[in-house]
Amino acid sequence: MTRNAELKKAVCAEIDRRAAEITAISEEVLRHPETGWRESETAHRVRRWFDGLGLAHEDGLALTGVKARMRGRTSRRSVAVLGELDALLVDGHPYADPTTTAAHACGHNAQIASMIGAGYGLAPVMDRLDGDVVLFAVPAEECIEVDWRLRRREAGDFEFIVGKPELIRIGAFDDVDMAMMTHAGPTVSAPAAAVAASANGSLVKRAAFTGVAAHAGATPWAGANALKAATLAIAAIDAQRDTFDDADTVRVSQILTGGEAVSAVPAHAHMELMVRAGSVTAMRDAADKVDRALRAGAFALGVDVRVETVGGYLPLSVDEPLADLLHDNCVSLFGADAVIRDSGRMGGSTDMGDLGHIMPVAHPWAASGSAAPFHGPGFFTTDHVAAAVNPAKFMAMTVVDLLCEGAERAEQVLSTSGPKLSRDAYLELRRSFDTVTGGIVER
Ligand SMILES: [Zn+2]
Ligand SMILES: [Zn+2]
Repeated sequence: MTRNAELKKAVCAEIDRRAAEITAISEEVLRHPETGWRESETAHRVRRWFDGLGLAHEDGLALTGVKARMRGRTSRRSVAVLGELDALLVDGHPYADPTTTAAHACGHNAQIASMIGAGYGLAPVMDRLDGDVVLFAVPAEECIEVDWRLRRREAGDFEFIVGKPELIRIGAFDDVDMAMMTHAGPTVSAPAAAVAASANGSLVKRAAFTGVAAHAGATPWAGANALKAATLAIAAIDAQRDTFDDADTVRVSQILTGGEAVSAVPAHAHMELMVRAGSVTAMRDAADKVDRALRAGAFALGVDVRVETVGGYLPLSVDEPLADLLHDNCVSLFGADAVIRDSGRMGGSTDMGDLGHIMPVAHPWAASGSAAPFHGPGFFTTDHVAAAVNPAKFMAMTVVDLLCEGAERAEQVLSTSGPKLSRDAYLELRRSFDTVTGGIVER
């Protein structure tokens, strides 16, 4: 047995020994969901689990992030294992918080458990690795509650509305060379694991339509209907769909609220939109068409529309050498038939795409036990071994590959990975997405 294989065997044996603890972490987070930027209780739990590992930690990074470093015998390179703290809002989800409707319908509970589990496995062998492992619980991956986030941003709480861009901005990834995390997925798409999938990027919009209120029965002609302007804008967006190249995997999603009382012509309508595509060029192109549609609805009804645009996520490209290592480790655990090497581009998006613009990243998927659609009330992790314990193993095994024997494989990954943006160049790109048009503020 090679030294490397011996280390991996020890790591997996330790994770198996602590499998019940890892499962309990996944279940505990599942039962206490919190949405992005407000994951204070979940962050408190992570601090407790880091304390259990005897690790010092930095707290309150981008409001709720918690970061710990496990030192190797030398610190040549640093590999981060991430877990996302946040939940979604899904009314009717069986594990929803009854007050907030927050629910782990994206399986992030398993990420926290696999991140801690990887730490459990690696802790006894750190003195045989030539690099550090950074365990990092990161905030606000889901891009939801856009209006609330933009108001928090205006109040100065953060600049970017999702977590990893904000962590990059404050320098929290400056001491990390590469990063990985495992996302739980519908079991149908990941028999055991899928190690590489690219993902769309996205731009996010808040559109405020302002018309004129009037009695809806007595003098409706005196009003200007903001809600009808918004629904017309949605029809205009839908009419654009043929103009999107299939290869760009464009998705335009929106939610709409409008009017105050049914007896009055709605003077206000508020729309949140997400415009996704596989490249920055396609994101900008689709967003321009959406802006035209929003203005068209407003023009037709003679109301005003103010459109604010900010960056959501950059498109994700997984680092191929990192994916190769993960693939080999998954195959050794599950067999080749249970592992998908490349599952293509996902129509969804993740801020792991942002991190991938400044360092090599991997974002494998693991089975969750559920075959229900993501983000809906039927999706939650039922198989915590598949979703958390197994990923703890294949991520920890990959860390061993990267950091054993002089961290040679980590050096190889860094030297073969494509060019990356500096932090400043990345921030310049992110800020280039921010625009405000129409309404009271014209820029
Ligand atoms: Zn999600
Ligand atoms: Zn997710």
